[in-house]
Amino acid sequence: MLDLLTERFSKSLSKLRGVRKLTEKQVNDILRDIRMALLEADVDYDVVKSFLKKVRDRAINEDIKNKLSPADSVVLTVYEELTSILGGEKADLKRGVVIFVGLQGTGKTTTIGKLANFLKNQSFKVAVSSTDVRRPAAMLQLQRLAEKVGVPYYSFDEASPVEIATKALERAKKEGVDYLLIDTAGRLHIDEELMEELKRIKEAVKPSEVIYVADAMQGQEALRALKAFHESITLTGVILTKMDGDARGGVALSVKEAIGVPIKFVGVGEKLEDIEIFYPDRIAQRILG
Ligand code: GDP
Repeated sequence: MLDLLTERFSKSLSKLRGVRKLTEKQVNDILRDIRMALLEADVDYDVVKSFLKKVRDRAINEDIKNKLSPADSVVLTVYEELTSILGGEKADLKRGVVIFVGLQGTGKTTTIGKLANFLKNQSFKVAVSSTDVRRPAAMLQLQRLAEKVGVPYYSFDEASPVEIATKALERAKKEGVDYLLIDTAGRLHIDEELMEELKRIKEAVKPSEVIYVADAMQGQEALRALKAFHESITLTGVILTKMDGDARGGVALSVKEAIGVPIKFVGVGEKLEDIEIFYPDRIAQRILG
């Protein structure tokens, strides 16, 4: 996960070790290294530009008055700005109805299983349901996962997606569920019909969270789809899957700046346990090596 950035950043910043006085050339060299690394990692171009501007402004303005050595000050600045573009604070998952949206094949259903397991292990009462009525196999996949985790799967015969969501919410309330996780249809492409269906489900159950599940390996493509979903139905969070297979990690560094919505979890493998809370500060620290 984020191996490329970790390698490049730590190599570049290690040049500063022991340096007492920074020349402008040294600052420019570091900024150039950082720019190359971020672009190579497939970080959104606008994000790279604004990141570099912030680091440059702070490096130039603060190194004189800062109590730290100039080199430490640059490292600290990069760390703080990295934490900030990764989202700043760790984001919580609000209790209530959590709707999962996204394109087909991104890992949505698997992620719901992982989260159900994660939340159950934290002693929350969890239930899951699927509104993907056009793909019985997808519904069955979630049902099997629910059985494996040991949480109830709510199913309602011959109901429409909106009816399923509504009935699932009624049942969840009756049973005192903390988190009702609802899967939605994932299409191969974004289409109007899908967006309308999602809007109707959202209207019916007033979710506490609308989580977009994105495949990190799809890079900029994932970011475009994410923006389109956010414009249409307003998301509250993002889960990035397949971070284990993506050494670049550009999406992770672009999401917050691009749409202002935090990444809440990352998927790091195919097993039920392979999900991690997204901690911006720890990740920034890891990147700096
Ligand atoms: P959906 O169509 O969006 O519901 O996607 P699925 O949940 O069926 O997942 C599609 C494929 O991605 C499956 O083979 C999953 O095992 C795999 N997958 C999901 N999340 C991850 C992850 O974090 N890492 C890896 N390596 N594979 C994942």
